[in-house]
Amino acid sequence: MFKKILVANRGEIALRVQRACRELGIKAVMVYSEADREAKYVKLAEEAVCIGPAPSPQSYLNMPAIISAAEVTDAEAIHPGYGFLAENADFAERVEKSGFQFIGPTPESIRLMGDKVSAKQAMIKAGVPCVPGSEGELPDDPAQIRRIARAIGYPVIIKAAGGGGGRGMRVVHTEAALVNAVQMTKAEAAAAFGNPAVYMEKFLQDPRHIEIQVLADKHRNAVYLGERDCSMQRRHQKIIEEAPAPGIPRKLIDKIGERCAAACKKIGYRGAGTFEFLYENGEFYFIEMNTRVQVEHPVTELVTGIDIVKSQIMVAAGEKLPFVQRDIQLRGHAIECRINAEDPYKFTPSPGRITLWHAPGGPGVRVDSHVYNNYFVPPNYDSMIGKVIVHGDTREQALARMRTALLETVVEGIHTNIPLHRELLVDAKFMTGGTNIHYLEQWLSHHKR
Ligand code: ADP
Repeated sequence: MFKKILVANRGEIALRVQRACRELGIKAVMVYSEADREAKYVKLAEEAVCIGPAPSPQSYLNMPAIISAAEVTDAEAIHPGYGFLAENADFAERVEKSGFQFIGPTPESIRLMGDKVSAKQAMIKAGVPCVPGSEGELPDDPAQIRRIARAIGYPVIIKAAGGGGGRGMRVVHTEAALVNAVQMTKAEAAAAFGNPAVYMEKFLQDPRHIEIQVLADKHRNAVYLGERDCSMQRRHQKIIEEAPAPGIPRKLIDKIGERCAAACKKIGYRGAGTFEFLYENGEFYFIEMNTRVQVEHPVTELVTGIDIVKSQIMVAAGEKLPFVQRDIQLRGHAIECRINAEDPYKFTPSPGRITLWHAPGGPGVRVDSHVYNNYFVPPNYDSMIGKVIVHGDTREQALARMRTALLETVVEGIHTNIPLHRELLVDAKFMTGGTNIHYLEQWLSHHKR
């Protein structure tokens, strides 16, 4: 096992990895930008290294600064968290070339899955069902583009091969708008992701977003840890996640989960990963794979009892997964609410000083957050300041626990989306379960204020 790991991230996930390291008896080296000097995990760290000024290109995306921090502290491995460099194959490669273990899949796997076109092709080969769409990248010829769209059937969605974070997508309803939309998405993709390639998919009307968590080791063992329902989204950004997905037969989940685990073995995948699907009319359609730990991993941890971050570290160190598929049993129901520093209805970011922070507690309540009383939320990064996660024997109990937890949560000095969560938790449709990916935006348009 490693003696020392460098955590190349910030915020709640940096703290999450630090906690996993402590449990495993591993020293965690924390890195921070000048804006994060006061972060809780930096204060708690045995070792911390400043890697640059606040803007992330000069700190959390600065590969030489991160690698030299690992060198000067004698770390053996680097955990990338999520976001920043977590899905950057070049970074993973540089980490390994510099003699450190990258806590994640191989650079080849990251590259394969990071390009959504090659990812889809690999999944089709591995027998994972995908959204009907273009065979690979779209050509330049307008007539050919129109032909492809006609064959798929409108509406279609144009997606950037290198896209991520809900960006680089455009829905097209009519042929008249098609070619222009493709050109615009290409131009945006080139500017945002350095890759102009786009592809086309059928735009599913009312799907749910269901994803399968997998874990694989270096010895070709792979398991799936059930599913998560992440359909409560705004602008393709998830805000509430839960496990298991309400109302989907276990048999169907097992069938798709087995395919995902088999695909991992086939591509030589190692570490934690997520296969994201759209689910409509009883069918799953693969959209992409995330080759890292996800924000919403705690709901899976609560229903399976498996520590995903610790597992990532153990398999990176070469250990075998300590369980097989039949050992994985789901218990109860878990829900996560992402707490963002933003106006709850206008969604404008609300960084600044938290003058009062009171975290919830009680049975089945988990809070993953790096903030504290008098903490300053820097304006430079993502607006998420933490997550409240609850576990109950049933979905009803989990919902009740979340309502109580968010009633107890106090954040003063900045705006957060807690008032929005409180309303959603008593919404009749959400309480029934099984709402689709458009539900939250529709709800918001009916609740204008
Ligand atoms: P990203 O990598 O940016 O997260 P994804 O491919 O995972 O992109 O898609 C993000 C979200 O966009 C999905 O959760 C879904 O809400 C929507 N989406 C993507 N593809 C489709 C599609 N073919 N039909 C309908 N919605 C889609």
